Amino acid sequence: MESLKDLFLSRLGQTSKSPMGIEVDHAIGSRIYTPEGRYYYDLLSGFSVSNIGHANPEVISAVKEQTEKYMHTMVYGELVQSPQVLYASKLIELLPEKLNKVFFVSSGSEAIEGALKLAKRATGRTEIVSFKNAYHGSTHGALSVMGSETYKTGFRPLLPDIRMLDFNSSGQLSDISQRTAAVLVEPIQAEAGIIEPVPGYLKALRKRCDETGALLIFDEIQTGFGRTGKLFAMEHYDAVPDILALAKALGGGMPLGAFIASAEVMDTLIDDPGLGHLTTFGGHPVSCAAGLAALNVIIRDNLCNEAVKKGKLFLELVKHPSITETRGMGLFIALKLKSPEQNYRIFKGAANYGFITDLFLFNQDSFRIAPPLTISYPDIRELSERIIYSLDDTA
Ligand code: PMP
Repeated sequence: MESLKDLFLSRLGQTSKSPMGIEVDHAIGSRIYTPEGRYYYDLLSGFSVSNIGHANPEVISAVKEQTEKYMHTMVYGELVQSPQVLYASKLIELLPEKLNKVFFVSSGSEAIEGALKLAKRATGRTEIVSFKNAYHGSTHGALSVMGSETYKTGFRPLLPDIRMLDFNSSGQLSDISQRTAAVLVEPIQAEAGIIEPVPGYLKALRKRCDETGALLIFDEIQTGFGRTGKLFAMEHYDAVPDILALAKALGGGMPLGAFIASAEVMDTLIDDPGLGHLTTFGGHPVSCAAGLAALNVIIRDNLCNEAVKKGKLFLELVKHPSITETRGMGLFIALKLKSPEQNYRIFKGAANYGFITDLFLFNQDSFRIAPPLTISYPDIRELSERIIYSLDDTA
């Protein structure tokens, strides 16, 4: 009889030649368990999905409660569904004043698609500016603004009128012009290897957008919900976008995305023609109920501060001659190693070292530390020992 792993390999569409292939039995807190009872620390949190950890009891009961009331009833925007209204209201209460209308979708890529369409509609322009080494998703629109030729080549033609800039280059701000509909940027570039903006850069982007009438879009799909030590990374830099794209931790472990803008901008989707953006599952009531419960946990348990404290502790504990640089903030950390080969050996051997991690898409020599923000202090100590062992073993 074929094993579950054989069936997984033969029956599911694969994304790489050699997937990790660890079988998941259940997951609790910051640990993922196999059917044999072995556990792996989750150093990735699903690229910032599981910020409050796995199997949070509040999220589970919110999901159960909503599932028993109703699941899907109607495509987005026709019926009043309290989980959507309550969650949108909570987000608006926590966000800068001008971000006051929420359009829920189902994923990060969809949030980006919606945000780009909205910017085109609201400005009547077509050019989109994005940045080298940015990742915004895998659908055609999101792929078009990805900052890597390697990943785009096999899928052309993509969207026209995309202008790619170097992140952190003030000299290229003048490329944003009266033709530009939107400037799409991650406040901290995630898959580039956790690259922060240089001081004043996001404010300079904001200023240039104001001068030209382009809309500024922040992709906080990975950086949102406490990951960097603030609820949203933009709070570190005192810059507010016209459109904010969210997903991942937004759904508390359920699929959910959103793009958020001012009522004035958002309402341009209503007519001429009407039905400007539609989605069948966007804002699924169970996802919204789960997301709201998760956000309440982040606030009640002060997980932003926890992320700061725990990030510092990791940096104190994980010291090793192979580490040549550390980047990031909160529990959004990249350790630059001496060579990409060493980093790859750790990634390939991670299952033996007892943690689950992944490579950055556009940065081969950096090791990621991004566990759930709820990881316990004893777990941080044990995990740090495992990381040091992996560094010793591969040095
Ligand atoms: N933007 C960023 C910054 C992301 O990290 C991701 C997913 N890794 C996306 C967009 C796309 O999200 P999704 O996979 O939910 O479509």
